[in-house]
Amino acid sequence: MKINAQRLLDNLQRYAKIGEAQKTGVERIALSEEDREARDLLKQQMLEAGLEVLIDRIGNMIGIRKGLRDVPPVTMGSHLDTVYQGGCYDGALGVLAGLEVIQSLNDANVITEKPIALINFTNEEGVRFAPDMMGSHVFAHPELLDEILESPAYDNAQDTVGSRLKAIGYSGDMPCGSMEPDSFLELHIEQGPTLELEKTDIGAVEMVQGIYWTLYTIKGQANHAGTTPVPYRKDAGYAASEVMHYIGDYSRKANSQVLTTVGTISFEPNAINIVPEKAGFTLDLRSVDYEALKQGQIDIDQKIKAVVQAVGLSLEREEMVRFAPVQFDKEVVGLVADEAEALGLSVKRMPSGAGHDAQMMASVCPSAMIFVPSVEGISHNVKELTHPVDLENGTNVLLNAVLRRAGED
Ligand SMILES: [Zn+2]
Repeated sequence: MKINAQRLLDNLQRYAKIGEAQKTGVERIALSEEDREARDLLKQQMLEAGLEVLIDRIGNMIGIRKGLRDVPPVTMGSHLDTVYQGGCYDGALGVLAGLEVIQSLNDANVITEKPIALINFTNEEGVRFAPDMMGSHVFAHPELLDEILESPAYDNAQDTVGSRLKAIGYSGDMPCGSMEPDSFLELHIEQGPTLELEKTDIGAVEMVQGIYWTLYTIKGQANHAGTTPVPYRKDAGYAASEVMHYIGDYSRKANSQVLTTVGTISFEPNAINIVPEKAGFTLDLRSVDYEALKQGQIDIDQKIKAVVQAVGLSLEREEMVRFAPVQFDKEVVGLVADEAEALGLSVKRMPSGAGHDAQMMASVCPSAMIFVPSVEGISHNVKELTHPVDLENGTNVLLNAVLRRAGED
């Protein structure tokens, strides 16, 4: 069975206009007015497609298409929110492809054995409110709801998740996690270069890398850059640069199993003629191998401590994120690969380098992801692009995998 590709492309363009940024991009921050507008359109389209629409207490939108049997639904979905100056496919593809699957089933008058549900998760990107993957996180861990509703915006403490959900009209009353899915499938752009470089149509995603984020602050003493001899300096900036070099080298070693990135650095007082008193920097550490991830963190922590102690400085360390690698369900991954091959598409089994809602859903029900190629691997950027044929291919794989899992009459 095939989807209506033109309708899918038109619909992606329609949503790309909501929060349009620099002609080719989108800026639709979670819980903003643009998010409300996109949600309102999705709700209308879900209703037009005959779905029962439910909103849970964290604002996840769930559209259910009835099946012949009253059993847990086969679910699919992703997120409609974006980063600042983001692209029009990250997240939106998974939601709108899911809608297209339902519309295609409607067109063909197919009634499945199991119900099918489409989910738009709240705040996957975590741009204004922590944590990211918020909606799926609370779906999997409803006990976190009250705490997360209190989470303040990074840029305005008056705005909380709860107050913004009310403001945009998506503070629902369905208890989080009260729907038990049969399975979950998320179609997403790869956001990396592998599929394009290897000329492969579809990624059957087997796992998501583990991610550790840590914020370090090295503390020394501010002093005059001209009058303080080197032996008397407590130079936090110099110590940070030594550590950063070590961190960069760590993932460049032969057979390294981890990726290391120092993505931010800040000095205080940050002046040309003052020895820095404070140097703050972040570490983003990732691996598909949990042991390598943990060992990498230990090695880097030890190095930082040693450097800081050797020159008489002090250190503060804050753990921001700790996600272990997540394995997807072998059967659902196999289903994705099989359906792609049945459609004559080339498939690569691969890990995901980025975090996604599906990794949260993996603790709730058998889950997997479908990747389609990203042109030049560019994402979180207004230049993000996936060719129409790949959008169509991915959605066809989603349709057939869902249909197989839900069982045709
Ligand atoms: Zn995404």
